[in-house]
Amino acid sequence: MNSVTIVGGGVIGMLSAIQLQQAGLEVRVIDRQSFGRESSWAGGGIISPLFPWRYPDAVTRLARLSQQIYGDLVAQLQQQVNIDPEYLPSGMLVLGDYSAENPRAWAEQHQINMQAVDRAQIRELAPEVAEGYHNGWWFPQVHQVRNPRLVALLKAYLQQSAISLVEDDPVSEILLEGPAAIGVQTESSRYYSDITVIAGGAWSGQLLAQTGLMLDIRPIKGQMLLLNGPPGLVRHITLADDRYIIPRKDGRVLIGSTTEDCGFNKDTSEQVKQQLLDYAAATIPQLADCELETHWSGLRPGSGDGIPTIGAHPAVQNLYINSGHYRNGLVLAPASALLLRQIIMRNSASLAPEDYRVAV
Ligand SMILES: Cc1cc2nc3c(=O)[nH]c(=O)nc-3n(C[C@H](O)[C@H](O)[C@H](O)COP(=O)(O)OP(=O)(O)OC[C@H]3O[C@@H](n4cnc5c(N)ncnc54)[C@H](O)[C@@H]3O)c2cc1C
Repeated sequence: MNSVTIVGGGVIGMLSAIQLQQAGLEVRVIDRQSFGRESSWAGGGIISPLFPWRYPDAVTRLARLSQQIYGDLVAQLQQQVNIDPEYLPSGMLVLGDYSAENPRAWAEQHQINMQAVDRAQIRELAPEVAEGYHNGWWFPQVHQVRNPRLVALLKAYLQQSAISLVEDDPVSEILLEGPAAIGVQTESSRYYSDITVIAGGAWSGQLLAQTGLMLDIRPIKGQMLLLNGPPGLVRHITLADDRYIIPRKDGRVLIGSTTEDCGFNKDTSEQVKQQLLDYAAATIPQLADCELETHWSGLRPGSGDGIPTIGAHPAVQNLYINSGHYRNGLVLAPASALLLRQIIMRNSASLAPEDYRVAV
């Protein structure tokens, strides 16, 4: 086993490439467009699940492992490439009560640093937040990354690491010989390899359908706004009522997002734009004065319970999957790539692989 072809140059495909190259494989990554232009570019970059206590333990464990290795990973990438992904300890403030969902028990079980906060503590942590919030949950250790910078850093790192990058060449077929995958067919070429990995984000289900596997990965659209504010206006990642506000270092502020199950359609709508602007102003009133710079959407690789599929195809030899990270691909990517490497190389795994394998 010497070579691997990875389909998909998002954060999952690129981090998988780095792991597999470090394991000694010859790696090629193929994308149908430029790398890092889909969900991995469009997302918010919060290095934590939103309302993290709501997820299955398998997601929490993957997120915890990623959070433990993120800092070292970013430092390792930056040693080679001079792009700052703005990996910053913003802290995350979840506004609202939620005690009926028992976040405290979840935090104790998983040893998460999380504190309940009252009105006075919210005012101290985030004086910019509107008066109406009397309870919240504070996660001091949550970081963020700036997505376009992280994907630029990853791509530049791949280019300097003798990994072969193929852009603007859609994969149309997984090549099969008997019971095994032997590479892929693209619009322009055939690429043969010992191992094939599908990391095609929201398109992974389509790519795998040819193999008879009906994986429940479907596009879930999220719309996002970017406001131009003064640096320091918003102090922390702030969540309330299923929406969030993310402050960037230069003062820009992201407002997100929607979860729209409407196929491969990336249109944005005036109605959602107004809803997100209203939400921002109701949560942090000074945001009403900030200029709206951009409005975009991305397609998350939605999976029913949010647990990604990481591991071997159940019926086709030498074919692997790393996909379905839904709302948490940025936080889950480092641990998912590490787990994939451990599964492919048959090394002992950091997490139980059976929690992420294809349900058959
Ligand atoms: C609005 C929004 C906000 C988000 N916020 C966060 C957040 O704060 N924190 C977090 O952790 N996650 C967040 N996410 C989720 C996160 O962005 C995704 O889970 C993650 O980016 C998935 O990465 P991926 O590499 O699997 O998919 P993608 O980034 O979509 O990459 C898949 C790649 O496969 C390529 N591809 C597809 N089909 C083919 C083909 N036939 N041939 C060749 N290439 C192909 C595509 O071109 C694409 O580049 C958010 C997502 C959105 C949309």
